[in-house]
Amino acid sequence: APAPPPARHLFSDPAEVEALRGNLLAWYDRCKRDLPWRALAATEPDADRRGYAVWVSEIMLQQTQVATVIDYYNRWMQKWPTLPALAQASLEEVNELWAGLGYYSRGKRLQEAARKVVSELAGRMPRTAEDLQKLLPGVGRYTAGAIASISYGQATGVVDGNVIRVLCRLRSIGADSSSPAVIDRLWDMANVLVDRSRPGDFNQALMELGATVCVPKAPLCGECPVKQHCHAWRRKLFGKSPPVPDVEDCGVGDCPLCPPATEPWDSSLGVTNFPRKAAKKPPRVMRTATCVLERRGCHGAPEYLIVQRPSSGLLAGLWEFPSLPLAQDLQEEKEREELADYLQAGMGRPVAAKGLQFIGEVIHIFSHIHQTYVVYALHLDGDVNLDPALSPSRWVTEDEFHASAVSTAMKKV
Ligand code: SF4
Repeated sequence: APAPPPARHLFSDPAEVEALRGNLLAWYDRCKRDLPWRALAATEPDADRRGYAVWVSEIMLQQTQVATVIDYYNRWMQKWPTLPALAQASLEEVNELWAGLGYYSRGKRLQEAARKVVSELAGRMPRTAEDLQKLLPGVGRYTAGAIASISYGQATGVVDGNVIRVLCRLRSIGADSSSPAVIDRLWDMANVLVDRSRPGDFNQALMELGATVCVPKAPLCGECPVKQHCHAWRRKLFGKSPPVPDVEDCGVGDCPLCPPATEPWDSSLGVTNFPRKAAKKPPRVMRTATCVLERRGCHGAPEYLIVQRPSSGLLAGLWEFPSLPLAQDLQEEKEREELADYLQAGMGRPVAAKGLQFIGEVIHIFSHIHQTYVVYALHLDGDVNLDPALSPSRWVTEDEFHASAVSTAMKKV
């Protein structure tokens, strides 16, 4: 087993832990943001409803800002206020409500998990973090801990991006914060720190601190309720690690949690020396030809053809204008020909490459893909659909398009 990290990186003094909990909770009681899922979790007497509300909010908040989530959350809870209601929804309805929120598999998995709770667990949400993670598809360690602590009062910690930042700063952890060794230590710490009588509030307070005070670029250390426990802040003030009488300073190179010897503390960065991450892989570059097919509808208004994407993979099950991934570095003429061939094969009628009108290019950044859509338009007479063996398709007005389950990227197109 690896040697335990030096005590200066841990919370080993019970009196300090108690003081930190008290300071953080007092700050949270004074300063927390009013958020609809918090209000529901605090007032709803039914445990399953509390668990469901927190679950929905946590899934929406993964990778998405609070300000964006509020409206989606309110509409979702209005439409499906309970787990059984969500279990009866169709995937199409879920995708329509989720449209624009990104990472679409989240909505799909929520709905699948709701069906599982209703059909296999008699509609009763699992009550512990361990069971939530084990029994609900799409619920990982963080979400399970959040639901269990906030909804059911289980004294279990949580570690998300905000908590990683706060804990790394509190305990001067400069090793790669995405490495399994560091993540394991942070979970241990979160479980030590969590307040036994108010675990849900404590976890939310730690995350709230990361979201509003201990922010990535310009943290507000002067206003921080736990600054007296923060090693990064003391180091910034005094220019060195805090004195810890019972252990040696880590020394360079052999501590699993210190910054690597090759990247020591940079005083110009202050507390933002922490956390540190290994460099991200550059995003994959993709180019896709997409064609806005337009016709006059029966009432004279223009209509557009949209097709459904496959039920797995990126943007699964969403609708888009007919699109074709392109090889890199194709000449424009060749791109146009490939798109014309694709449309011709799908519609079963001739499409001349020259007839495709080039509109422009749209760039959309997915988390791991730098996507360029090369946009063409084509006006058609009469009723045309793509071969249903390729994918389902339908004609929609502009309003219908916006109400459909289409991605933000397609709305840009
Ligand atoms: Fe973060 Fe600064 Fe507070 Fe430390 S003192 S936890 S760096 S805001």
